[in-house]
Amino acid sequence: MFENEYVECVLPAQKSIALIAHDNKKKDMVEWCMKNKKILEHHFLCGTGTTAKLVADKTGLPVRGYNSGPLGGDQQIGARIVEEKIDLVIFFSDPLMAQPHDPDVKALLRIAQVYDIPIANNRATADFIITSEYMEKEYSRKLINFRRNVAMRAKEM
Ligand code: PGA
Repeated sequence: MFENEYVECVLPAQKSIALIAHDNKKKDMVEWCMKNKKILEHHFLCGTGTTAKLVADKTGLPVRGYNSGPLGGDQQIGARIVEEKIDLVIFFSDPLMAQPHDPDVKALLRIAQVYDIPIANNRATADFIITSEYMEKEYSRKLINFRRNVAMRAKEM
């Protein structure tokens, strides 16, 4: 007998927020974090290496740094989403510049979609998210039941 197709999964009131900005967007990211410092200090921050260091240095907010994006930082953040350790991603990507780690960027966007994690790709979306009522309360998502999925696939093979 298989378990339910979907499971309920809660994003906590105090969220783990990942910050990523491509080079041409780093200034924007620092400004945005500064503007929203009062809200962000209630949450846990992390980010790709250079973005994390810049935001921490310029705003005084504590930000855990992963590797730099081109050196695997986006993939580390993707893995943390799979482990349900990241609840929100603010990703100021550059739509006008080719990135050497484009496959990693795509993988991150995809995994955030699979896990139904809110992800802002530009400043306007980030502004809408940061002013959402869900920033200060729990949010319940319905996720595919991955255990059931594996069990069913294994049975079919
Ligand atoms: P960085 O990485 O914060 O280390 O610059 C960001 C990225 O390019 O994905």
